[in-house]
Amino acid sequence: MSWLLRAFQANGIQYEEGMRWLGLDRRTGLSDSDVVKVAWALHADADEVRGRMTLLESRTGGRWVHLAGHRLCRWVAPTTMMAKLCPLCLREAGFARIDWLTRAVPACRRHSCSLVQACASCGRKIHWARPGLRICRCGRFFKPFEVGGSLEPELVAWLEWVEAVLLGDAGVARSASLRLPPLLQDMTVDGAYRMVEAFGLLERPGAPVRAVRHSSVSLSAVGAMLTRGLRRLSEVGRAEGMALQAFEDVHFPVLTELAEEPAADVDGRRAAWLLDCYRAMRPSGMRRVGSRPRRQMPLFL
Ligand SMILES: [Zn+2]
Ligand SMILES: [Zn+2]
Repeated sequence: MSWLLRAFQANGIQYEEGMRWLGLDRRTGLSDSDVVKVAWALHADADEVRGRMTLLESRTGGRWVHLAGHRLCRWVAPTTMMAKLCPLCLREAGFARIDWLTRAVPACRRHSCSLVQACASCGRKIHWARPGLRICRCGRFFKPFEVGGSLEPELVAWLEWVEAVLLGDAGVARSASLRLPPLLQDMTVDGAYRMVEAFGLLERPGAPVRAVRHSSVSLSAVGAMLTRGLRRLSEVGRAEGMALQAFEDVHFPVLTELAEEPAADVDGRRAAWLLDCYRAMRPSGMRRVGSRPRRQMPLFL
């Protein structure tokens, strides 16, 4: 979308005006048929445009989107007007990265910092429709909040993998995936993210999930959640036979939802297998862990 926005600007057209002209409504998310209009306006190839946008999957009522040829649930790839970015990458490379469009990427591995989702000068959330890629609506350049920090190695491997998968770089994706927990092998970005969430959301058993699984949570909290989840998943994969203990911190509603509504079969099978392992190990009469989300069949009782 950034591309379309800059094209409008280069022609002296306001974002809202351009969207009206094309008959598009970004608030509801764009669908595949809108791509044709955008491609026409940009004089670009429709497939190329399609690959760079988060598009709604029409047959599933907006719960799923497609981004760069990957199927992701809308929680993982939101279609809001908000944006997040790395000001240093924008300064050096001059373009926004596709993986920033997903919740799976809360940080920049190149500059070892969290991505920025609000302007350091005026405090407002960063919006798609802004005067320039690097410039806030208040007129100032975006600045990183913290520089010179470092990211956990698990998180760096994760960021590298997500970026490579979304860019279609199979070689880099394969080598990065070797540094991820074995349980995530062959999963899609959507499945892997939700699996890591299931293992990382709870700081400790019984901690409130809403503090972390909320759209306005800080990106450093998302980074910490991912690191936690990746570490716990490595433990599960390494254990000689699986221990019940490994499931102590699992947020079961997310894992159950992944088993029942996966982006791809491989994700659903992995989640269902973990739930089966848990169920088999669990002594009867133990208290129920987690609560069953709405509309879901009870997988563990
Ligand atoms: Zn960066
Ligand atoms: Zn500002």
